[in-house]
Amino acid sequence: MSIMLEVKNLTKHFPLGKGRVVHAVDDLSFVLKKGKTLGLVGESGCGKSTVARTVTRIYEPTAGHIFLDGQDITSMNQKTLKPLRRKMQMIFQDPYASLNARMTVRDIIAEPLKAHDVTANRKEIDELVFDMLALVGLGDEHARRYAHEFSGGQRQRICIARALILRPDIVICDEPISALDVSIQAQIVNMLKDFQNERNLTYLFIAHDLSMVRYVSDDVGVMYLGQLVEYSSSEAIYQNPLHPYTKGLLGSIPIPNPVLARARVKSEIEGDLPSPIDPPHGCRFHTRCPYKMDICMKVEPLLEKQDGEHAVACHLYG
Ligand code: SF4
Repeated sequence: MSIMLEVKNLTKHFPLGKGRVVHAVDDLSFVLKKGKTLGLVGESGCGKSTVARTVTRIYEPTAGHIFLDGQDITSMNQKTLKPLRRKMQMIFQDPYASLNARMTVRDIIAEPLKAHDVTANRKEIDELVFDMLALVGLGDEHARRYAHEFSGGQRQRICIARALILRPDIVICDEPISALDVSIQAQIVNMLKDFQNERNLTYLFIAHDLSMVRYVSDDVGVMYLGQLVEYSSSEAIYQNPLHPYTKGLLGSIPIPNPVLARARVKSEIEGDLPSPIDPPHGCRFHTRCPYKMDICMKVEPLLEKQDGEHAVACHLYG
């Protein structure tokens, strides 16, 4: 199967001055196949959103390479990059903050058409906007309103309409449901899945909710403090998690059945995420890992394949 997005050894550091650096993303590699979904999961602050912003070149990478549909876009200048940006759109976490309060919904959804010089014809723009509103379950009458007149779920529908109006090949979904009520989350995720089937869309789906990532993803990458610690098919990660951190994340998913919940082996992760300014030596997870050994504090484990495509970075799997 052909590859839509490939990231090789991607690193993003933010210098703070006086030699201090935020290690937001370190040496991250993954491939995202066309028409598939890669879920990227981890706690807040693990670098997921920085990955989203770096692969779209909102942030400039510190090192590594980004290939979009076979083309290396890592250091492409903005003029050369512009037509390729049409292929890759983004849905942001917060539908309240990502919509301009002074613009009508029509102008918000039409913004990418103007930015990419698709058309300046008002009638054509209106038709395209109305088509997108219908696609996301809203009506023509909503085009004249402003973002504050809508609920959170409706705002995220508007964001999705804006992301899809250029008919992109890949959408980077940066925690698209985490600001929404639980009852609305499933609606939005089902809508994204329907669009994927209809348009052969590729998604990079970033979330901290492992249960939702399982539902939408073909492959899953688990991030901890800027690094990938486990990477496999969604099924393998959930059936047979290898890394202690992944096991801890899965252990924190609520189980509605109290008998099963009590029987579950306690594996919640304790302690706080260390600072990315001064990450722990060796395995970055060793400060919270119940299985840590001497080697874990000295030698950084590499992400290595254990079983087929299932890769893990942990000395337990020497
Ligand atoms: Fe735990 Fe060591 Fe594995 Fe890190 S390498 S997850 S500290 S056992």
